[in-house]
Amino acid sequence: MRITVDMNVCESHGQCVFAAPEVFSFDDEDYLHYDAEPSDELRDKVTAAAASCPVRAITIAG
Ligand code: SF4
Repeated sequence: MRITVDMNVCESHGQCVFAAPEVFSFDDEDYLHYDAEPSDELRDKVTAAAASCPVRAITIAG
Protein backbone atom coordinates (compact mmCIF):
# COMPACT_ATOMS: atom_id res chain seq x y z
CA MET A 1 0.00 0.00 0.00
CA ARG A 2 1.27 3.44 -0.91
CA ILE A 3 -0.14 6.67 0.40
CA THR A 4 0.43 10.24 -0.53
CA VAL A 5 -0.64 13.39 1.24
CA ASP A 6 -1.14 16.52 -0.79
CA MET A 7 0.70 18.95 1.42
CA ASN A 8 -0.68 21.83 -0.62
CA VAL A 9 -4.11 21.16 0.82
CA CYS A 10 -3.25 19.63 4.20
CA GLU A 11 -4.20 22.08 6.92
CA SER A 12 -2.71 20.12 9.81
CA HIS A 13 -6.10 19.29 11.25
CA GLY A 14 -4.67 16.12 12.74
CA GLN A 15 -7.57 13.73 12.23
CA CYS A 16 -5.24 11.40 10.36
CA VAL A 17 -2.82 11.38 13.29
CA PHE A 18 -5.66 10.46 15.61
CA ALA A 19 -6.93 7.72 13.27
CA ALA A 20 -3.56 6.14 12.42
CA PRO A 21 -0.78 7.32 14.76
CA GLU A 22 1.49 4.52 13.49
CA VAL A 23 1.54 6.23 10.10
CA PHE A 24 0.95 9.96 10.62
CA SER A 25 2.60 12.33 13.07
CA PHE A 26 3.37 15.98 13.57
CA ASP A 27 6.79 17.40 14.22
CA ASP A 28 7.46 20.17 16.71
CA GLU A 29 6.29 22.74 14.19
CA ASP A 30 3.01 20.96 13.46
CA TYR A 31 4.26 19.83 10.07
CA LEU A 32 2.81 16.48 9.04
CA HIS A 33 5.10 13.51 8.50
CA TYR A 34 3.94 10.12 7.32
CA ASP A 35 5.07 6.67 6.28
CA ALA A 36 4.44 6.55 2.53
CA GLU A 37 4.49 2.74 2.43
CA PRO A 38 2.77 1.47 5.55
CA SER A 39 2.22 -2.21 6.24
CA ASP A 40 -0.98 -3.71 4.86
CA GLU A 41 -1.94 -4.54 8.44
CA LEU A 42 -2.59 -0.84 8.86
CA ARG A 43 -4.95 -0.59 5.90
CA ASP A 44 -8.10 -0.18 8.01
CA LYS A 45 -6.53 2.60 10.02
CA VAL A 46 -5.14 4.34 6.94
CA THR A 47 -8.52 4.08 5.23
CA ALA A 48 -10.14 5.62 8.30
CA ALA A 49 -7.52 8.36 8.31
CA ALA A 50 -8.16 9.19 4.66
CA ALA A 51 -11.90 9.27 5.26
CA SER A 52 -11.52 11.53 8.27
CA CYS A 53 -9.36 14.14 6.57
CA PRO A 54 -11.60 17.19 6.16
CA VAL A 55 -9.77 18.37 3.05
CA ARG A 56 -9.36 14.90 1.47
CA ALA A 57 -5.60 15.32 1.25
CA ILE A 58 -4.79 11.61 1.65
CA THR A 59 -4.68 9.30 -1.37
CA ILE A 60 -4.27 5.53 -1.06
CA ALA A 61 -2.87 3.48 -3.95
CA GLY A 62 -2.46 -0.25 -4.16
S1 SF4 B 1 -6.29 15.04 8.50
FE1 SF4 B 1 -5.82 15.83 6.46
S2 SF4 B 1 -5.52 18.01 6.75
FE2 SF4 B 1 -5.37 17.05 8.75
S3 SF4 B 1 -3.19 16.64 9.07
FE3 SF4 B 1 -4.10 14.81 8.18
S4 SF4 B 1 -3.79 15.05 5.96
FE4 SF4 B 1 -3.53 17.04 6.88
